[in-house]
Amino acid sequence: MSDPIRPAQPTPEPPRLEIRNLTRSFGGREVVQDVSLSVAPGQVTCLLGPSGCGKSTTLRIIAGVDRQDGGAVLMDGRVLSDARTHVPPEQRKIGLMFQDFALFPHLSVARNVAFGLSGPEAETRARVETLLEQVNLGRFIDAHPHELSGGEQQRVALARALAPRPKIMLMDEPFSGLDNRLRDDIRDETLQILKAEGTAVLLVTHEPDEAMRMADEIALMRGGRVVQRGAPYHIYNNPVDRAAAAFFSDIN
Ligand code: ADP
Ligand code: MG
Repeated sequence: MSDPIRPAQPTPEPPRLEIRNLTRSFGGREVVQDVSLSVAPGQVTCLLGPSGCGKSTTLRIIAGVDRQDGGAVLMDGRVLSDARTHVPPEQRKIGLMFQDFALFPHLSVARNVAFGLSGPEAETRARVETLLEQVNLGRFIDAHPHELSGGEQQRVALARALAPRPKIMLMDEPFSGLDNRLRDDIRDETLQILKAEGTAVLLVTHEPDEAMRMADEIALMRGGRVVQRGAPYHIYNNPVDRAAAAFFSDIN
């Protein structure tokens, strides 16, 4: 029976994604060192750091296409991988987006978006139509990728990644291949769509201004380690050391 005097405490929601003390070595060199971070439901966490600091390796371990030497990956409090467990990538309910969005050129936009879906055809069609409306590409449903601009193709890739309703979207520098003029718009649109779907996001980037623009929380990485975590304005105003300050200094 519940205590009539003390009001019930809401149980804190576990993070959507949690990484504990991850390590990974290649040829005796530890490129991921004791990395811990988390992504709350519906939030965007940015893993930010210079090229070569271990961001993509961390993301590959979370996706399950690579395996850590130590540490654990948990989703909604359940272990996806640790020393004993390894849930296969296709069972992780994780969406992936990379710079090279790689749509299938011989398939229509509709078929590209439907690619990872199973189930009744009418349901699939309805989901595809809804997603293409969301990314503002309803009119291109029967087009082929080569008829679309780079930005439009990227939005199709986003719709495709969202189609199976992933619990979290892992994005590895997804905007770096895009034209400068388009990039800000596409970043904002992408964010809106992900927020509307309620999908948690772990976004990897080497660009501080992208992290400042998109993140609810930043994990600043350097030389295989997370050196600082916090809200963007907090990290920007209170960099942990001179190197962190210098890294943020050329934001305009
Ligand atoms: P980032 O994404 O931050 O640029 P990566 O995670 O791709 O960094 O790489 C981190 C370091 O690990 C780099 O020095 C890279 O050369 C090395 N590395 C990554 N993958 C491998 C691999 N499969 N074999 C050997 N070294 C690797
Ligand atoms: Mg990388």
